[in-house]
Amino acid sequence: MSKNNLFVPFSLPAMGPEEEEAVLAVIRSGWLTTGKETLAFEKEFAQYVGGENELQALAVNSASSGLMLAMDACGVGQGDEPGKILTTPYTFISTATSSCHLGGGVVYADTAPDSYNIDPVQIEKKLKEHKDIKAIVPVHIAGLPCDMDAICDLGKKYGVPVIEDAAHALPSKTKKGFAGTLGDIGVYSFYATKPICTAEGGMICTKNADYAERMSIMRMHGIDRPVWNRYTSDRASWEYDVVAPGYKCNFPDILGSLGRCQLKKCQELFESRKKIVELYNSRFAEYDFLQLPPDGEGNAWHLYMLRIDPEKLHINRNEFTAILQEEGIGISMHFIPHFRMTYMKETFGLKPEDFPNAEKQFELSFTIPLWPGMTEEMIDKVVSVIIKTGKDHYVC
Ligand SMILES: *Cc1c(COP(=O)(O)O)cnc(C)c1O
Repeated sequence: MSKNNLFVPFSLPAMGPEEEEAVLAVIRSGWLTTGKETLAFEKEFAQYVGGENELQALAVNSASSGLMLAMDACGVGQGDEPGKILTTPYTFISTATSSCHLGGGVVYADTAPDSYNIDPVQIEKKLKEHKDIKAIVPVHIAGLPCDMDAICDLGKKYGVPVIEDAAHALPSKTKKGFAGTLGDIGVYSFYATKPICTAEGGMICTKNADYAERMSIMRMHGIDRPVWNRYTSDRASWEYDVVAPGYKCNFPDILGSLGRCQLKKCQELFESRKKIVELYNSRFAEYDFLQLPPDGEGNAWHLYMLRIDPEKLHINRNEFTAILQEEGIGISMHFIPHFRMTYMKETFGLKPEDFPNAEKQFELSFTIPLWPGMTEEMIDKVVSVIIKTGKDHYVC
């Protein structure tokens, strides 16, 4: 057991008195579900990531719902041919299951060498093999933007829209704008562990008015007018039409109020994470049994993913992380690749050999705590336990 009993959680949300007051105000207002707080959050979010661009932001109850609505807007599951999405096996499961819910399929392209992000070379190969792909879905893993120039070029060349899974990517800002606004549709997550958090929730962004209209209708039962408008416009309040078999994916005002507070802190939260990253990098750099996370333009540093060098240690990743957990450090894996999941493996005939890069990254990597409220003592403990574990199991 560790001399130091301090437990370091994997992640804690950054909630303060502003959030408490904002939520209370909504509760006291008497209007709890989707209404003016959520509308204001959407507006502020569109402004934040879109700037001068005409961009529509639609709040939804999760990024998973947002991905499903985006895929539906791109035609997945519609017409005679349900179609497929093209994504990476190295992502959370809902990037793919969102297509399955619509009756669509999934085609996988491996990650780029020494990267956690999808490889544009593999994307093109798959686009040539499969003619029924209705959307390319890159995922900005850990907040490091994918090669969006290459991916958007491929989208144009093959006439396939690009949906960015931007669940990790706030604020991933490149010269061309925020990740999540670079493709045709982008989807952010506000789940408890994500860069800004509303407990549950997500935001869809698009510049395409047709996609926005379809997603906005499908988000709320296929109803042609939103509930807040029903009680404030001239049409009789009970009057509405249903134009499609929609879903129930709206975002309540209680969470909207949290989102508005969190968005204001987005940059500050990023800077806090970035400081911890710099500390981690400087402390880990001298140890050859560790490989630092990939970095590049616009990294939001949502996650700090370390890799061990298997040549330098006589324990594997699982043994290494079991020691960290025993010592009181919360760790996580991002992600167990889809070819290791029974349903995906059997349904889409996946074999690990077909994804050598993703398999290797998964075998060697793990994610350590990186959240704004970490104390110096916590950071210190994470660093010293990792270094000690490596030294204790070093091959001389
Ligand atoms: C968290 C996550 C999602 C799903 O987000 P929810 O808001 O929990 O539905 C999708 N994709 C990735 C890459 C994620 O990490």
